[in-house]
Amino acid sequence: MKVPLIDLQAQYVSVRESVRAAVDRVFDSQQFVMGPEVSRLEAEVAQYCQTTEAIGCASGSDALLLALMALDVGAGIEVITTPFSFFATGSAIARLGARPVFVDIDPHTYNLNVDRIAEAITPQTRVLLPVHLYGQCAEMNPILDIAKANGLVVIEDAAQAIGAEDHGRRAGSMGLAGCFSFYPTKNLGAAGDAGIITTSDPAFAAKVRRLRVHGGLTEYEHVEVGINSRLDALQAAVLRAKLPRLDEWSDSRAEKARIYSELLEAAKFNFKLETPVVRNGRHIFHQYVVRVPQHRDGLMQHLKTRDIGTKVYYPIPLHLQECFVYLGYKQGDFPEAEKAARETFALPLFPELTQAQQEYVVKSVEEFRP
Ligand SMILES: *Cc1c(COP(=O)(O)O)cnc(C)c1O
Repeated sequence: MKVPLIDLQAQYVSVRESVRAAVDRVFDSQQFVMGPEVSRLEAEVAQYCQTTEAIGCASGSDALLLALMALDVGAGIEVITTPFSFFATGSAIARLGARPVFVDIDPHTYNLNVDRIAEAITPQTRVLLPVHLYGQCAEMNPILDIAKANGLVVIEDAAQAIGAEDHGRRAGSMGLAGCFSFYPTKNLGAAGDAGIITTSDPAFAAKVRRLRVHGGLTEYEHVEVGINSRLDALQAAVLRAKLPRLDEWSDSRAEKARIYSELLEAAKFNFKLETPVVRNGRHIFHQYVVRVPQHRDGLMQHLKTRDIGTKVYYPIPLHLQECFVYLGYKQGDFPEAEKAARETFALPLFPELTQAQQEYVVKSVEEFRP
């Protein structure tokens, strides 16, 4: 048996016809950049995410960049975020000349440790940028309280969390804005790069809409310097074809995660393995990540010999990246993020994963002899 980390083919066969019809629609229209497909997707995603507006852009990375640009984040400003995320979370801050200020993570959810945020706030802090890692929301109530008490803006990096919920509120609807990625392997994946920003603040939305088209009021009138980060109609059409299936897919991921945890907790190993902790709320399981404190690399190697795909998200925390040496962080500054980088890895998880595949994965884990 072979179990890939993710199987996009399996999903494609189930949406092939509607995706191809959407692609034909765009080619027949010959309108490739923005246009009605994009504005319809924006309305549909806003509704799905419980916001009044959504603004499409070229990628999740650009969604973060545009949201921070719309807040005039730049030199002299600090943005508090997690060191345990995809690189784009930190780079969007640094790219604008602002300073990423990292706060360690909770060892169970891998999201920001909300008890450590207050001590990181300085007079320069303007934004809190929590990440909803692996499809589970960061603890938004304390984050929103801290922001309110300190006059800070909350931007959610919801790239892995479309449809996730915290106390009934959807990811991307709790802060001033939510930043989403439609990278092909995300829960809702495009046929290439794509992203979107959700918000219910009309002035903020208007500014983001300008910034994605070079800061233009009209085609040739520029009030500010933006970037070119439009969403392609092809991507929007493909995403619209897939969006109606998203809840079914995310529910299926969550169900398979439940099965993994049940099987793994019943299995017998002579080493320690921790299954994911689900807080109150809807976890959409973009990834199913386990912690193996002693023998992570050996176990991954063993699973590879059994044709099982695994991956470490993320092997090097942001504060230890070479490009961020100038920030002055060092090994030991964020022990939980560093431990997670050493001890965790993702098992295969996608909506079409079969029970037999899951049993094979767990049996193979059981067979591992450290
Ligand atoms: C995927 C991802 C991004 C960036 O999205 P792209 O569309 O790949 O640019 C940002 N943050 C997180 C947490 C992500 O997982």
